[in-house]
Amino acid sequence: MATCEVCGNDYDKSFDVVRAGETHTFDSFECAIHALAPVCEHCGCRVVGHGVEADGAIYCCANCAKHEGEKRLRDRA
Ligand SMILES: [Zn+2]
Ligand SMILES: [Zn+2]
Repeated sequence: MATCEVCGNDYDKSFDVVRAGETHTFDSFECAIHALAPVCEHCGCRVVGHGVEADGAIYCCANCAKHEGEKRLRDRA
């Protein structure tokens, strides 16, 4: 029996996720995603799949990485 650190639910089928040596306890994947999934730098959605990493930023898809890359190039110009 453990308590979900996101919603506080006491659930007998809770599970732990270890990230960077820290253990997080959740009652559902929804809560785990809410707490741990990175956010796409372009559209702001949760990156639940592999995502795309470019210049240290994380995007949900190559299309978002491309859009953001184009914006940065324009900003620099
Ligand atoms: Zn929860
Ligand atoms: Zn995106």
